[in-house]
Amino acid sequence: MPMPKKQNLVPCVDCHKPISPTAKTCGSCNSTDPFGVERADRKLKTFLFLAMLVLGLVALGAYEWKGITPLDIVRGDFQKLWQ
Ligand SMILES: [Zn+2]
Repeated sequence: MPMPKKQNLVPCVDCHKPISPTAKTCGSCNSTDPFGVERADRKLKTFLFLAMLVLGLVALGAYEWKGITPLDIVRGDFQKLWQ
């Protein structure tokens, strides 16, 4: 008699107990994000936000420092840098 096909279980990121990949919550530790998907998403959004913030500050700094506007950067006009 064939063995019943074992469902592939994946470990919960919080308690590392194997749970169903379709589970919304972990039955072992009650984690509502047992695969860390929401956490990874939040991390990426935080990273993108910080990257935009840094770019914004650099652009603002260049403007304050030498009067270089984002338009100059787009045009590749860095002559103001040498003035
Ligand atoms: Zn868990």
